[in-house]
Parts: sequence; structure tokens; C-alpha cells
Amino acid sequence: MKYLILVGDGMGDRPIKELNDRTVLQAARTPAMDQLCARSRLLQVQTVPEGFPPGSDVANLSLLGYRPEENYTGRAPLEAAAMGIELAPDETAFRCNLVTLEHDDPGHTRLVDYSAGHITTHEARELVTALQQECSTENFRFYPGINYRHILVVKGAYPDLQPVPPHDFIGRDVSPHWQRYMDDPTWKKLVLGAEQVLSHHPVNQKRTSTGLNPGNGIWLWGEGRMPQMTGIPERYNLQGSLISAVDLLKGLGVCAGLDILNIPGATGWIDTNYEGKAEAALNCLLKQDYVFVHVEAPDEAGHQGSLSAKLQAIEDFDSRIVAPILHGLRAQGDDFRMIVTMDHFTPLELRTHTSDPVPALLYDSREQETGCGLDFNEESGRQLNQNRQAISGEEMLLTLLERNNT
Ligand SMILES: [Zn+2]
Repeated sequence: MKYLILVGDGMGDRPIKELNDRTVLQAARTPAMDQLCARSRLLQVQTVPEGFPPGSDVANLSLLGYRPEENYTGRAPLEAAAMGIELAPDETAFRCNLVTLEHDDPGHTRLVDYSAGHITTHEARELVTALQQECSTENFRFYPGINYRHILVVKGAYPDLQPVPPHDFIGRDVSPHWQRYMDDPTWKKLVLGAEQVLSHHPVNQKRTSTGLNPGNGIWLWGEGRMPQMTGIPERYNLQGSLISAVDLLKGLGVCAGLDILNIPGATGWIDTNYEGKAEAALNCLLKQDYVFVHVEAPDEAGHQGSLSAKLQAIEDFDSRIVAPILHGLRAQGDDFRMIVTMDHFTPLELRTHTSDPVPALLYDSREQETGCGLDFNEESGRQLNQNRQAISGEEMLLTLLERNNT
């Protein structure tokens, strides 16, 4: 038996006036998912447990079959895992953004840009390497990542920063948050030392002279220790792989004991290499029994508030991921059980995630005649499950694998 989970990130939405009060998923042309759903069971899954922020990290941890209540420690350790950084039990990873800061009025700090003008990876690597040379100590280590996204590893105990994500404060006065760094001698030394190194670095001088935002400061957030998770191979005796363009997902895959398949041309946007992803999933199942395929584009379209991009992303997910994988699986001839779902809703009107339970179709290649008879969308999920509580991600995985939920 082969097992698959196909995830359209942020596909879920609310009814939209322009679409005659239908959701994007209802309005999009998705024949593959609709035909499949009609012959599937339709589950409702609470991917974001109560009390958790509806992040992709929490929601996909659920879809991988884990309980965020037990296994979610923060975003940065997942990104560290994706970068191949190993954390000792007494070490904490922080996301370290290269940001553009302005200390204009005395005592006031403004966060001009959370991404330092989407600084290039090449430039950022020079800056973070300089930070590692000049500012690292026995207890602080810097690791360069992609664009503005880097990691700081802190060894041992540290004074709490109550960190906040910088993208929530674009262009705003962040003095109270900045002050928390200044209130502690260790953080103060690190953060001011970093500013000193960065603001004099030739990379930033060149950026400033050409009108680009410099990476003249660091912003720490998303901290956590490495989650202690039993991998899917040990837990369920299944070898499997994860396919995604997104570092956070790759980190989750590493923590879940999956192989990470890096697909050339996978971008996280509507120009991603769908065909490469579908082909890699099918090839993976020739050798292994489980694959998790993640497509980021619908979520990005939701964040941009673009109806046309979200329609396109969902239709492409249907015709270029679900359809070819289904076709390929039938040609390969093994029995399979497959879930098609989303991690969370990213409603266009809100341009951010919500914690609504998500619909998940569960198709079994051996059961051709039974199914819910409905199209795949948010409303079908609600309709079929209105008298039942949504299940957890762990229950969803156990149902997929036909394991007793004990
Ligand atoms: Zn997501």
C-alpha cells in the first residue's frame, strides 16, 4: 500500500461576493479533485489546535500526524533543521532577520524594512559571515541562510526577549521592542555590536549608495529548541519523502524523519515546477511507501489578496499535481490511499491565515464505488461533518494509515 498527502497551502477561503458567494475552491475548475472527492470519504481536520497561532508550521505539523501541543517548539528550530544545523539539547535557535532600522529621533527606533530590501543571498552571506567573525561568542553563533532569513543559535539560558515577528511591524516605531534588547547587557552587546559591524560593511555602503535598503540591523524572533519528535519511519514503520519549496516545510520533514526531495525550479509561487514535483512524488513511491507533497502558491496568492492568482494556483494544483499523480499511480499499479487537503485557510479578504477546520478527502484505490458524492470544497466538508467534531491531524494520519487510534 502506498500513502500520499497532497497539500495546497492556504487553499481554503470564505465565500466571496465577486464569485456569487462561492469560495475560490468552489469557483475554480478542479475536475480532478472533484471527481476524486465524489469517490472519497471527506474528513474535517482541526489542523490548528485551540490556543495556537494559525501558522503553516503548526498546521503542517498536524498534517504530518503530530500534535502541536506536544511537538511545536517554535519556527526557528524548524528552519535550522532545514539548513542542516544541529541543535544540542541546551541550545535555542532564533530566526535572525537582516532588517533596515532607523534610529531617527533620540530614543526612537523604526523598522523600515523587515527584509533589508529583499537583500540577495550573496550579499547577506557576506554580512552574516562578518557577524559570525566579529560578534559570535561561545554562546552565540550566526548561520547564513537565504536572502534576509538567517539563524542565530544561543547556547544555555538567556534573558527572555518576548520577540515579535518583524513583518508585523513594517514601517512602524518599534522602540518598546528595541528597548528589551537594551535592557539586558548581553543582548545589548550583541545587537549593538551587530549594528556596528553591519552599518560599516562595504555591502551595505554599496546598497545605500544605490538607493537600496541596507541590512543594517538584526531582528531576533521565532525562537525554540529542537522538537523531540519520533520520526515517521520509527513511529509507523514507513519510509517516506517530503516535497516542498519552503524551508519551514523541509525542516518539518527533517524532524519527521522524512527524506527531503529538492526539486529544481520549485519556487513557492505560481511559476513553480509542478511537473517536477508530481514526477518526483511518483518516483519516490517506486522505492518508498509514503510521500507528502506541499504546494505553496495558493497561500502566497491569498497573502497578496489576488483572486486571479489564487484561482490559477488552485486550478494548477488540480491539473498539474493531483491529476498527473493520480494518473501515474494508476499506471504504476500499486494500491494506494491518498489525502488531498490544505493546511489552513488564507482568505483573500483577510490576507492572512485562519484556524478554520479544513476539508480533507481520503481516497482509497480499492474502494471504487463508495464515496461522499460531493465536490471538494469547504462547504462539502462542513455539510458532511456538521454533527461531528473535526478530527486532529494525528487522527487524520492514523485514518489514512488504517492504524487503530490508540
Ligand atoms: Zn500554510
